[in-house]
Amino acid sequence: MFSAVQIDKSDAGQSVALTQIDEASLPEGDVTVDVQYSTLNYKDGLAITGKSPVVRKFPMVPGIDIAGTVRESSHGDWKAGDAVVLNGWGVGETHWGGLAQVARLKGDWLVPLPSAFTPRQAMAIGTAGYTAALCVDALVDAGLTPDQGEVLVTGATGGVGSVAVALLKAAGFRVVASTGKTTENDYLTQLGAESMIDRAELAAPGKPLQKERWAGVIDSVGSHTLANACAQTRYGGLVAACGLAQGADFPATVMPFILRGVRLLGVDSVMAPKAPRLKAWQRLARDLDPSKLEVIATEIGLSEAPAAAADLLDGKIRGRVVVDVN
Ligand code: NDP
Repeated sequence: MFSAVQIDKSDAGQSVALTQIDEASLPEGDVTVDVQYSTLNYKDGLAITGKSPVVRKFPMVPGIDIAGTVRESSHGDWKAGDAVVLNGWGVGETHWGGLAQVARLKGDWLVPLPSAFTPRQAMAIGTAGYTAALCVDALVDAGLTPDQGEVLVTGATGGVGSVAVALLKAAGFRVVASTGKTTENDYLTQLGAESMIDRAELAAPGKPLQKERWAGVIDSVGSHTLANACAQTRYGGLVAACGLAQGADFPATVMPFILRGVRLLGVDSVMAPKAPRLKAWQRLARDLDPSKLEVIATEIGLSEAPAAAADLLDGKIRGRVVVDVN
């Protein structure tokens, strides 16, 4: 038996509980992992609270991220004792996930734990941090260089935003952080932001073309914030869009794209192939100072995950939440 958070659904609605599960009930897979740490991402918040139909099968063990040790494997790449990380692939949505002491997974989904990080640090990064790295890679691979000007990060005190600020700073960019948490200026400065703007400046409907300011943008907020960020992006600038914390809508015009050659780059972490995953983790291992992770992360136990998930969606949490499942 092992401990897990489990989501169930009945006619009365969705319920979430910390429960004991028989290992015989684990789903199919060719690798069994003893989970050491998991995390709470925005998507875990949606799954646990039921605010969005993230979970596709019930009962479900949530948790889209896992750091742990292989216990048993029939997959050629992995053997007992290997330290591994998992991000996404529908785990915690269609396949039992990481808010549990044991997980059974497909070996193809796993990447090695980078030697730069402990399992706890890898989960302080989690899908949010790995997505931030995918966003920085998208901008840099499309040609963004530090001499081109300022880079805007929206949702800056969130998981994606916090790591994006730190990675951009490490890569030599000047970062402007957009946040609703005006009391967190010190936190954002510590991570590497040069200045802050109040997210209210971006959150309301704006003109299709505005004063050109940003050479690049990493947006985890969507909706009017993304539309205004595009409208303020400089000629030939780049916008990486990965999130929807304000909304999934995109109330914009084509003007920034057809008159200023702005390029909008979509970033998905869930089904990203292995090569960009490994590249993103390499950037994290090279550029992310582990001491910054101590600033970004707070730790909770498995039983605290449901309440913390609600706080996350209410925007009450700064940075990243690491879950010690044992
Ligand atoms: P967090 O909840 O940690 O951070 C989101 C941040 O957005 C908040 O901290 C807040 O930052 C800001 N925010 C929250 N609500 C609003 C609002 N109504 N209007 C404007 N800003 C708001 O989430 P994550 O960082 O984990 O994820 C961010 C987004 O990215 C989510 O939508 C998530 O689903 C998405 N995502 C997408 C991935 C992909 O593969 N494409 C992978 C990972 C995440 P502040 O207070 O500083 O303004």
